[in-house]
Parts: sequence; C-alpha cells; structure tokens
Amino acid sequence: MLTADTVKELAREVGFDLCGVAPAEAFPELRFLDDWLERGYAGEMGYMARTARRRDDVRRVVPAARSVVALGTVYNTERRYSTEVDDPDAALISRYAWGEDYHDVLGRRMEKLLERMRSAAGEPFEARCYVDTGPVQERVYAQYAGLGWIGKNTCLIHPEKGSWLFLSEIITSLPLAADAPQLDQCGTCTLCLEACPTDAFREPWVLDATRCLSYLTIELRGPIPEERRSEVGTHVYGCDICQDVCPYNAAPARSADPAWQPVPALDNPRLADLWRQPDKSLGGLLKRSAMSRAKLPGLRRNVAVALGNSGTTESAAALAEPATPETASRAEPLVTEHIAWARRQGAPRPKSKRS
Ligand code: SF4
Ligand code: SF4
Repeated sequence: MLTADTVKELAREVGFDLCGVAPAEAFPELRFLDDWLERGYAGEMGYMARTARRRDDVRRVVPAARSVVALGTVYNTERRYSTEVDDPDAALISRYAWGEDYHDVLGRRMEKLLERMRSAAGEPFEARCYVDTGPVQERVYAQYAGLGWIGKNTCLIHPEKGSWLFLSEIITSLPLAADAPQLDQCGTCTLCLEACPTDAFREPWVLDATRCLSYLTIELRGPIPEERRSEVGTHVYGCDICQDVCPYNAAPARSADPAWQPVPALDNPRLADLWRQPDKSLGGLLKRSAMSRAKLPGLRRNVAVALGNSGTTESAAALAEPATPETASRAEPLVTEHIAWARRQGAPRPKSKRS
C-alpha cells in the first residue's frame, strides 16, 4: 500500500520542493469562484466560466478521486525584483517566465513521479496530472495540503520559501493520509494591496483581473484599453509587484535548477532590443518559454506600450523605426494602433530614475 510519506519522498527524488496531500473534497473556498465570475472579474477569460462547474470539486474531473497530491516548485532565481529596477529602458517580465516553459518541465516530472508511484504501489489506481492548465483550483488544494496559505494578493505563500512557486497536482483514487491545512499568516499586512499600480484588488483576496497587468498583457487579445495603458509602465509580460513587496518574499528560497535560470534573451532585456528582434527569433523565444500564452502580436503590442511609457530617447528611436519584412508583426493593425499611441506620449525624456 502506497503511503503519503512514500509519495513525498518520491516527489523530492524527482525534483519537487514541496509536496502535501489534501483530501479530494469540495472545500467551501472553491465556491468563491462563482461570486468572482458574477462580478465580471474574469473579463475575457471565458474559459473560466465555461469550466466553473468542473472547478468546484476535483471529483468532477476524476470521479474516483480520494486525494490530491499538491506539489510546489520554487522558481525564484538570483535576480532583482521588478520594484528594484530603476532603468526605464528595462523590459519587465514576470519572474516565472524567464526560464523554460514550466508546463513542459513539470509535466515531465509529474509523469516520472506517477511512474514511481505506480511501481511502489504494486496495484492499479487512477490518477490525473495537472500543471496550471486544467479545471482545478490549485491554490485551494495546495492550502489544504499544507503547502502554504492564500495571501491577500491571491498567491499561495509558504512561510519560509515565499510565493515564487509553481503549483501542480496529481488527483488520485489513492486514499492517502491528508496533511493539516496551512493557516493564514497575512495578519494586518496590506502591502500588496497598496502597491498594486492599477488598484486591481477590490478587497483583500479579491482581484479584479480586468485591471491586473497580468491580464492586460497576457490574457487580453485585443487592444489594451487606452485609459489603462499608462499604468502598464514598462511591463511587457505579467507583473510581480504584489509579490515583490510581500514580506514573505524578503528572503525567499532560490532555485539552482537550470530549468528556471533566465534564458539570455530574457535576462534583464532592454525594451529596444526586444522591439528590434526579428519575428522569427521573438516567436521562437515565445514558443520555448512560458510566455507562449501571449502571441507575437500581443507581445509586440505590449512592448510598444512600454516603449511609450518609458519615454527615453532610446525608446523613441526604436518606436520611430519602420517595420521591415523581418519585423512584419509590427505592421499588424493591433500593433500599429499601440505604436501610434506610444509615439503620442510626449517628447523623449533623458534617461533618469523612474518616478
Ligand atoms: S500582478 Fe501587478 S497589477 Fe496584478 S494585482 Fe498584482 S500588483 Fe496589481
Ligand atoms: S504583502 Fe502582506 S497582505 Fe499581501 S500577501 Fe504578503 S503578507 Fe499577505
């Protein structure tokens, strides 16, 4: 009979930093999704509403489920936080997207873990692996599995390792011993809520995704609403601010895993360099990284807005360059409209510290 302790040992062997077990139950927190959707906070993420019923209990995706093996992987690397970057020519990209695509890497690791679990169990059982893409409310199960608590910034926070964690899970018919859930340790802190540049938190734990830079630069397919563009700053893919300021990320765990080390093109890139990259190499970069969710025109759109917000002579020079056959995506209507907006953002300012 496979025990929870053996699963945890096997999880460590294949490279997971955290592993806990939650019972496969319909926890009350899973129902908050309905209210969140009703308030329109999902914006154009229609798949959230379409899969809402499946998301309220893992037994809807694995009817025989008894346990959820929740897995955490630290992706934090030895680099400055976005809140410490004071170069207006620097492109800000969410920390999780700097290395290899975590869906692929963690998918392979989970398959390996499952293989070892099957050999150790010596009897058949049902199991299904998810890395961020399935209809599973990962953070709720991770909290009940003792991996951390859901902070006011809606991220899962481990008391020592912080919140730079990829979450994934194996939903299984195995009746494994469950861990104790983690208790909230945010206390009276409100740093994340105050630091958000778009005021996206309607209240603690409630994020209006339509205001969040992660939504605007990743999920949104069309134009970024004009009234939001200045708030984008120099973010070109996602935003980390509400995690950067979290006290539990002041001395977080760091990963030496080669998979999460920044690839050279995403290691503190300059806006102008990203802008000048030919479509072929930029498209290749997207494909190999976790940034693939943003398509090429979407990334060009974001970089155009960031160049406009940057306002330096270097950015203005890049914006003034015409599209070439190698950078044809810059001539797409979605992008040209954002270029026109960016060029209107006033005269170039000399390079200086961000205000
Ligand atoms: S990711 Fe950025 S924009 Fe989104 S809620 Fe956090 S601080 Fe606000
Ligand atoms: S910044 Fe403070 S309130 Fe926000 S998640 Fe971290 S501890 Fe919680």
